[in-house]
Amino acid sequence: MNIADRPGPLLGSSVLGRYLETLVSDLSRLNIGDIATYIPQLGLADPTDFGVAIVTADGRQYKAGTCDRRVTIQSVSKPFMYGQALDQFGREVVLKSVGVEPTGERFNAIVLDEANNRAFNPMVNSGAIVTAALLTRDTPAQSEADMLALFSRLAGRQLDIDMPVFHSEHETGHRNRAIAWLMVNAGIIEPEPDKVLDLYFKQCSVLVDCTDLAAMACTLAKRGTQPFTGEQVFTPDTTRDILSVMTTCGMYDYAGQWVYDVGLPAKSGVSGMIMAVVPGQLGLAVYSPLLDSVGNSVRGIEVCRRFARDFGLHTCASALDPGGAIRRVYTAREVRSLRQRTVAERAVLDGAGALFEAVELTGPLYFAAAERVAHRTAEAAQRARTVVLDLTRVESIDKGALDILRRVASLTASESCRFHVTGIPDRLKADLAEALSAWNGTAVLAYPTTESALEAFEDGVLTGSGAIGIGDVMRLSQADIFKGLGPEDIAVLERAASTFSYAAGDRIITHGDDALAVYVVARGVVSITIPLGSGTRRISAVGAGQAFGEMAMLDGGRRSANAVASGAVICHAFAIDAIRQIAKDHPHIYAVILSNLVRSLSDRLRAANEQLGTFG
Ligand code: GLU
Repeated sequence: MNIADRPGPLLGSSVLGRYLETLVSDLSRLNIGDIATYIPQLGLADPTDFGVAIVTADGRQYKAGTCDRRVTIQSVSKPFMYGQALDQFGREVVLKSVGVEPTGERFNAIVLDEANNRAFNPMVNSGAIVTAALLTRDTPAQSEADMLALFSRLAGRQLDIDMPVFHSEHETGHRNRAIAWLMVNAGIIEPEPDKVLDLYFKQCSVLVDCTDLAAMACTLAKRGTQPFTGEQVFTPDTTRDILSVMTTCGMYDYAGQWVYDVGLPAKSGVSGMIMAVVPGQLGLAVYSPLLDSVGNSVRGIEVCRRFARDFGLHTCASALDPGGAIRRVYTAREVRSLRQRTVAERAVLDGAGALFEAVELTGPLYFAAAERVAHRTAEAAQRARTVVLDLTRVESIDKGALDILRRVASLTASESCRFHVTGIPDRLKADLAEALSAWNGTAVLAYPTTESALEAFEDGVLTGSGAIGIGDVMRLSQADIFKGLGPEDIAVLERAASTFSYAAGDRIITHGDDALAVYVVARGVVSITIPLGSGTRRISAVGAGQAFGEMAMLDGGRRSANAVASGAVICHAFAIDAIRQIAKDHPHIYAVILSNLVRSLSDRLRAANEQLGTFG
């Protein structure tokens, strides 16, 4: 991706764009600090330059000030090289030559952790030089190519090296040479420090603007995934390790006060760049070359301090409220499946509704939210025989929450209660299947939707009570629509009926067609669906003893829905003409059918109203 392909920045018209512009204009008055001159080329910076950029986890950018100025990244390169070393060699190898303890000394102090014979941490020069040593290839050109490739992937566009700054640093970087030779002497790095320093000076001389750096910071916020390209640059574990060291060691010898005041993992560099990370949310980058005595950008610190304070982003001040994780809880008493039931069936279901409990979840699921869900599920499992966790509205599940769900699944199962997880969004399917498969995932994931779990529960109750016999062929006299008719009347109807069999998926009636017949299901289940977008939506289902397509009797118009066989189905069909004939010859039969029809319609309306009343 090159810069032209990036999503456009959201400038003044956006809330955050305006916020940043005000911040930059307020803090421009802060005219204290000095430009670093120990690398002569850095001394050429313009002290009035001041830019800020934010890149959010969804890849939106906000910027203000001279945010497009390209300057050398300097020490802000260190966390990324450290991440690359961790991904390439693993923690154990890296920890042998560089630790994670803050030094409390200046960034370029000539000190080593003598007790462990390694550099103190990768954010000071000694540790960064060791890291560069790990990543040094056979030739400087190879090392440079690898390093630039890494930084370009992190920024989401091709980056370059500022050669004048590189040469300037190369010519004057004797202190870094001294540190490197000290480490050669200690046996921490190989006796070829020139190649290593070449890479180190080049990594410090990579040119970035505020958006590049904010995108790189955001990659760390997103557990290693670049926000513009979606590429996984670092593993989540490595990203966590990088952020940990940035938190404790990222701001030179101001690190302790920084965490106290700002509370975000961050890294600064002597060119005047600071990047800060709000894990999971965004990356922030500031450029202003006026430095304080420690080497941090004066305005950069102030921007971070205000931003963290204004939006409550200090990582130790997290105000996550797990209360919203449970959207609603209902039993099969308040909510019925879309399946129409006969009067007799409804009476049975009324008594058993409390044995099914659905818990609808929402938002991100993390430890505290999942713990709340676990508690609520355990309560439900004491009362109900089937407990469903509906994840339709869950945005994300972290590792801790997944582990809790896995434990809920195994615990609930041992308690004579069926536990199902439904409505799993596609993006979470793989993670959940993996977490739950260890424990009988097939049963837990048996129903794609709460609706299907609810229908199965109702079927189970009805079968258990003998109210429906799966596979029985219903006689016409048992159909709700013919209730109240005597044997002779039924015989009249039988003569008028034709019987049809259907296989799963067969269309019995089609939306928009002329309505020519009324159907009564003798066996199986028929789904009633309506067209929705390019597919259909199931709005109801009817089983043995129930009629569908009966509106035709009232208005003889066109079909308002499809009817599709859910499995093997047998139906009795009555042609509208035949019914008209019956109305003429046997008006009392017609009157009974009409009154049954009106009752069934008013029942359905009442049920729909009740459901609306429950959920508002
Ligand atoms: N290249 C610089 C040096 O090692 C980096 C210093 C910094 O930004 O902290 O002197």
